[in-house]
Amino acid sequence: MTKRITSTSTRINFPLRYKLPGVAGVGSCEDRQINLTLVPFGLDVSTLDLVDVCDVSGGKACGCVCPSCGGQLIARHGSINQWHFAHASKGITGAINEPCEYSFFVSVRLMARQLVHQTLSIMLPGFRSQVCHIDEITGETSAIDFTVTELTEVTLLNVETESRVGDVVVDLIGRVGDYSLAICFTHPGRDFPLRDQITLGGKCGLIKVSLDSFYKNLASVKLQKESYGAALRRFLEKDVLSKMWLHHPRDLRKKQQAEIELSNRLSAVRSERLAETSFSCGVCGHTWVGPASKSKCPKCNSHLYSYRNENT
Ligand SMILES: [Zn+2]
Ligand SMILES: [Zn+2]
Repeated sequence: MTKRITSTSTRINFPLRYKLPGVAGVGSCEDRQINLTLVPFGLDVSTLDLVDVCDVSGGKACGCVCPSCGGQLIARHGSINQWHFAHASKGITGAINEPCEYSFFVSVRLMARQLVHQTLSIMLPGFRSQVCHIDEITGETSAIDFTVTELTEVTLLNVETESRVGDVVVDLIGRVGDYSLAICFTHPGRDFPLRDQITLGGKCGLIKVSLDSFYKNLASVKLQKESYGAALRRFLEKDVLSKMWLHHPRDLRKKQQAEIELSNRLSAVRSERLAETSFSCGVCGHTWVGPASKSKCPKCNSHLYSYRNENT
């Protein structure tokens, strides 16, 4: 497969035309003013590779179709707007009947998969969690926070695309030492199973990468005169906020450790409370409550005449 992802410069000004009020997770209302039917990557019909708009001939000569709907694309290399692929008009009237709602994200997701060859160095976020206990009688809450992993950079080797892991199909999977790390991309219109629906065991981690905020990086494409492909690779490798652990090989073990620690802490508190004894002083008549080992009268400062009260 040929990979045409390099280019020298790209014109930017992603046309902000359409509002997508129904798109969840795309940020503020302002952020939603983006035409997601205009795409940076088209599917080259001769090679079946995703290609950057700046690497193809202009207009219909680009030879590309939309990776989402299969419709013909036109490469627009204008002098004002950011370069992009647009859907070719259907029919003589020129109107596209149904806008291809998520083609921006579909093209980005497919290109992200294509960009990774064999290895991928990737910054991964930290993963913290908590175990919690609520006392049924007193309602008292006790909790222990625990760290499954700190922010870290790993290198994935032998990366493959579109693999089945357990009961889910992931976009990428590679090896890190003795473990596998799987990556799935999400975007508006493409969710992923909830964390508690995933059972991958102790040998495979799973990271969710949200592509929702990638278009914000397009502004930097203009500033840095880089290709969309290079911007996407940088986003994939370095952006941490878009990533979330769905499963870490160590999370069950770390959780169990924290549960044991919390349970030990609770029994220590319980036995301390049980050990509290009521005392009286035979000299001054003072009574107090304290651990069974401390029978010294706090007033007389002597243990000689203190005695345990009967009912304790
Ligand atoms: Zn389309
Ligand atoms: Zn006393």
